[in-house]
Amino acid sequence: MNQIPTVALVGRPNVGKSTVFNRLVGDRISIVEDYAGVTRDRIYATGEWLSHKFRLIDTGGIEMVEEPIMNQIRYQVEIAIEEADVIIFIVNGREGLTNGDEEITKYLHRTNKPVILAVNKTDNPEQRQSIYDFYALGMGDPIPVSGAHGTGFGDLLDCVISKFPEDLSENDEDDSIKFSFIGRPNVGKSSLVNAILDEKRVIVSNIEGTTREAVDTYFTSESGQKFTMIDTAGIRKKGKVYENTEKYSVMRALSAIERSDIVCMVIDADTGIREQDKHIAGYAYEAGKGIIIIVNKWDLVTDKESKFDEFTDDIRSNFKYLSFAPIIFVSALTKQRLTKLPELIETIYENRSRRIQSSLLNNLLADAVAMNPTPTDKGRRLKIYYMTQVDATPPTFILFINDLELMHFSYERYLENKLRETFYFDGTPIRIISRERQ
Ligand code: GDP
Ligand code: GDP
Repeated sequence: MNQIPTVALVGRPNVGKSTVFNRLVGDRISIVEDYAGVTRDRIYATGEWLSHKFRLIDTGGIEMVEEPIMNQIRYQVEIAIEEADVIIFIVNGREGLTNGDEEITKYLHRTNKPVILAVNKTDNPEQRQSIYDFYALGMGDPIPVSGAHGTGFGDLLDCVISKFPEDLSENDEDDSIKFSFIGRPNVGKSSLVNAILDEKRVIVSNIEGTTREAVDTYFTSESGQKFTMIDTAGIRKKGKVYENTEKYSVMRALSAIERSDIVCMVIDADTGIREQDKHIAGYAYEAGKGIIIIVNKWDLVTDKESKFDEFTDDIRSNFKYLSFAPIIFVSALTKQRLTKLPELIETIYENRSRRIQSSLLNNLLADAVAMNPTPTDKGRRLKIYYMTQVDATPPTFILFINDLELMHFSYERYLENKLRETFYFDGTPIRIISRERQ
């Protein structure tokens, strides 16, 4: 199931959480992916240490402006407990133990998830002595780190990965198609999940996530295809205070996207497209996932015919890079057009996994170049020697060419369109990479 462990940072304001976050994703470990659109004030990233991949959340970035500070911290700890497999509790070695730290400790003692205590701002050997005060918290051996100087992170990460649950990778053999509904709060994601479950009476199981509280749902279609509906938490258990904060819901969406093969981007027919929709869709595209755009609550639309065109135009112009994604107009309430959704998901899954023989690709290339000659610059013409598919999920093609400077985005676009016309790639992004041949 491609479950990678989640690590969350908690601690009072100003202890250095975001500094440590940046160290953990930016320096000591390689960033696997940098999430387009959320790089400013990033609170969520994927990292790697000694070939162990993990997700990192800085709960300090999830702020609820109207709440008193101690409540905010409590919610942040709740989020960490709910989302994470391992929690890093950061304290400030320069200030020593504070009441706030003791409060946080009380909340953390209520979970049986592993907590690692990191004493930050221990910039030199003398300051490292301050860690002894923190034994009083009963959180085990404190680890001294310095976010400012980047010291102590090797020990911290060794400790973190030693606490990763072992059962996470067991589901790797799972051959179901994973999909999720993502979108802003109240667009109808949970209603869609329930409507589909209602439709599919053949539910296999409803298994609790191993360590996380997320609940995924499994079902099998009439054709025997297995599906996993990834829970974008909040879908099942609503009502948490922090759920409606934008950062939390974006973070949940990112984690659901990461685990999905196909992402169903839900837009509310009643309220239209918002900025946040673009954020999330951009990420799904970057991540190379299959994409379906779902306009939900279609039952509320009175003038359906003209609204249909209006919505289609609106979506196409707001999400130009998603021109390959089918748009469907549904109602979770009346279940209109929902029966066909699993079938569509299955088709896109196949498209996204498709591999094309090199001979076919090079026939296509020859035809494409004959119809629309390659661009020239200062008397030199772009030559494309060969095209081959190097990867699937999503389909990725390499073009061997004479000179990178001669390749234009518009010509790559042209070839992408040819590929889409000739083979079936509906609903999946495809990647074209040009390489100079020596
Ligand atoms: P957050 O509120 O917990 O996310 O804390 P920040 O990461 O924003 O850090 C708060 C302040 O502490 C900033 O001024 C940082 O530059 C400073 N800081 C963070 N880590 C260290 C450290 O290891 N040593 C020192 N001396 N200052 C640090
Ligand atoms: P979520 O926050 O995205 O999971 O949204 P919910 O599924 O909780 O739906 C939010 C609200 O929209 C609820 O009051 C639903 O009853 C309503 N809703 C969801 N889908 C539809 C629909 O297709 N038609 C109508 N009229 N209302 C819907």
